[in-house]
Amino acid sequence: MEKYIMALDAGTTSNRCILFNQNGQIAGLAQKEFTQIFPKPGWVEHDAEELFSVQLEVARQAMQNAGITASQIAAIGITNQRETTVVWNRRTGRPVYNAIVWQCRRTADYCNDLIAQGYTDSIRQKTGLVIDPYFSATKIRWILENVPSARMQAEKGELLFGTVETWLMWKLSGGRIHVTDYSNASRTMLFNIQSLSWDSEIMALMGIPATMLPTPLPSSHLYGYTDPAFFGGPVPITGCAGDQQAALFGQTCFQAGDCKCTYGTGAFLLMNTGHTPIYSQNGLVTTIAWGLDGQVTYALEGSIFMAGAAIQWLRDELRFLESSADSEYMANKVSDTNGCFLVPAFAGLGAPYWDPETRGTLVGLTRGTNKYHIIRATLDSISYQVRDVLEAMEQDAGKPLTTLRTDGGASANNYLLQVQADLCNRTVLRPKCVETTAMGAAFLAGLAVGYWKNIEDVCKHWAIDRDFIPAMDRQERENRIAQWKKAVQCAISFGK
Ligand code: ADP
Repeated sequence: MEKYIMALDAGTTSNRCILFNQNGQIAGLAQKEFTQIFPKPGWVEHDAEELFSVQLEVARQAMQNAGITASQIAAIGITNQRETTVVWNRRTGRPVYNAIVWQCRRTADYCNDLIAQGYTDSIRQKTGLVIDPYFSATKIRWILENVPSARMQAEKGELLFGTVETWLMWKLSGGRIHVTDYSNASRTMLFNIQSLSWDSEIMALMGIPATMLPTPLPSSHLYGYTDPAFFGGPVPITGCAGDQQAALFGQTCFQAGDCKCTYGTGAFLLMNTGHTPIYSQNGLVTTIAWGLDGQVTYALEGSIFMAGAAIQWLRDELRFLESSADSEYMANKVSDTNGCFLVPAFAGLGAPYWDPETRGTLVGLTRGTNKYHIIRATLDSISYQVRDVLEAMEQDAGKPLTTLRTDGGASANNYLLQVQADLCNRTVLRPKCVETTAMGAAFLAGLAVGYWKNIEDVCKHWAIDRDFIPAMDRQERENRIAQWKKAVQCAISFGK
């Protein structure tokens, strides 16, 4: 009987399950959305019980679709929305509050206090991160401070914390395992990314007891087994990584200098920087990519807030497009942007600028500017932003990028990827299977049980759909980048 690897992809808006066969092909898939809870402006929550029940439902559905039983699942790999924080009671198994989602800004004031008190450098040195509500630590503290009796229960050792993979593993194992992997631990702002241990000083600063924290383990490892009741037999859980790190693994970016960009709502760039962490001088964060074969691999990460979302803005607010995919055809109706530049800083600028006050700006308009020029300028803006982050990464890493591997919804756009290749003067690759996040989790799980022998074996299952070769001459590239930088400065100065 053929065996499969089950990848559980616990995203921000939906949970999915994909079954992969030994050739890395998709043999079964199921997906379901769950509720987004917005209690106040800037606050975002999920119901942790729903996260688990939806994940279980899609896993069973995928098994049914593929017609397989538990004994045909060689292992489970999990990849997840990162930083999202669940706190639950170890005895009852009940969450004490909704999951606080990575996007939630409720701890912004406390983060500003920490910055004002001078913690920026020490926290960066230990955790690789910038102080921001994005990461889990201040979300845990918020729950302990604001949920009645939570702090008292935590101090008695009754409460457990986990990001989503920890919560899912705890539930799937019937409460037997309380573990995380290094990639997820590195997003909590509590984890020392060099000693690979929880940092007692940060825990003391925020009043977070050590008894709440999961055991940090490598990303490819036998964590435990599912309770037989869930799938009709026990299944080992052996792979785990945060979504962006899993995509880096799924793109087989195994060498230092390898880099991937996921073009979704936002764009996330990660560069493998090898076995020692590189601390950014250019507004990037340092993170653990994965722990594998007794070694830790580090990455530099830069996030861009508006990528595909800018295309949605053209579609939904300006009504220039029927669908996001139409942007490619429309951009090709004109031969240039007629000198106009869009800076889509609708929610401030992320890496490498980090300016929350900046707002979107359209510059260089003439009487002849039409909607096709603006559509083209919007797609270009995604590539310019990605190029800016890549430049910062190359400076931090002290070595040039080799090739850029792409995935995510907007990577289907050929115009976008060609402009990306032109502006970066690097080859851009799009793989055949763009389910790289789930694939990364599957590879990590499969490696732990010998389903795939080693990373060379895994690399055989990554194939190119299309490569985009740079074709723009140097002078034009430099002129356009200089004009883009002027447009960014216009946007920044307007926000001041
Ligand atoms: P997420 O995981 O962040 O929800 P996806 O990877 O599903 O995002 O990608 C969806 C995003 O990609 C949307 O913002 C959409 O506007 C954009 N998008 C999808 N297809 C295209 C396309 N062909 N050209 C440009 N943008 C696209």
